[in-house]
Amino acid sequence: MTIHVVQFSGGIGSWATAMRVAAEHGTESLVLLAADTRAEDPDLWRFVHDAGAHLGVAPVIVADGRTPWEVFADHRFIGNSRIAPCSAHLKQKPCRAWLTTNAEPGNSVLYVGVDWSEQRRVPAITRGWAPWTVRFPMCEPPHLSKSQMLDWARREGLRPPRLYAQGFAHNNCFGACVRAGQRQWLHLLQVAPERYLAAEAEEEKLRGQLGDVAILKERRRGVSYPLPLRELRRRAEHGIAAT
Ligand code: SF4
Repeated sequence: MTIHVVQFSGGIGSWATAMRVAAEHGTESLVLLAADTRAEDPDLWRFVHDAGAHLGVAPVIVADGRTPWEVFADHRFIGNSRIAPCSAHLKQKPCRAWLTTNAEPGNSVLYVGVDWSEQRRVPAITRGWAPWTVRFPMCEPPHLSKSQMLDWARREGLRPPRLYAQGFAHNNCFGACVRAGQRQWLHLLQVAPERYLAAEAEEEKLRGQLGDVAILKERRRGVSYPLPLRELRRRAEHGIAAT
């Protein structure tokens, strides 16, 4: 029997993916594989467990054990929009280890919740998970927007993850993702300053060890400079426009 493994991140796209896989293949050999970064919104786990109960499948949760900031400290490198060692160490590696032990590549299919609006990511993700076969059910029609997926979850009686209602495009790392740009960090500062300040403190701690590095960058006269969260906050507090 083929094992159908859904990368179940707690995002609405991965939930919709699981629903489509369950509709096509049933739930007998469905695995909801979630990686715990130790940095998620507790409400993400509430949703993961609610959604698992709704499908009648207990999620499988894997974890490296570290937080993104612990990974950055270990690697002496702060993640950014282009390079995110946190994702590699806290998500991809633990999931791959689970697949290696539990799902023969010839006997299993991996499903990723990338949707039709993110199709450009498909080739790299497919290459990255070789030798497993990867499918992307949400890239197939009918194409659904995020708000349609959220409505779908509500119709199924599920309460969507709260981060979407707080204005975040993705339900990951409690809105403090190092891949996000200035706009999301400023949004986090506005809606959850305590989480922004926690990230700022972590960044300052590592800057003390590593020098002038930061999650964000800005360009001035064609040259790229680190833009620390502390400086971004100072500018926001003084009404200085983002660059
Ligand atoms: S969501 Fe962002 S911060 Fe969290 S592990 Fe992934 S890349 Fe890193």
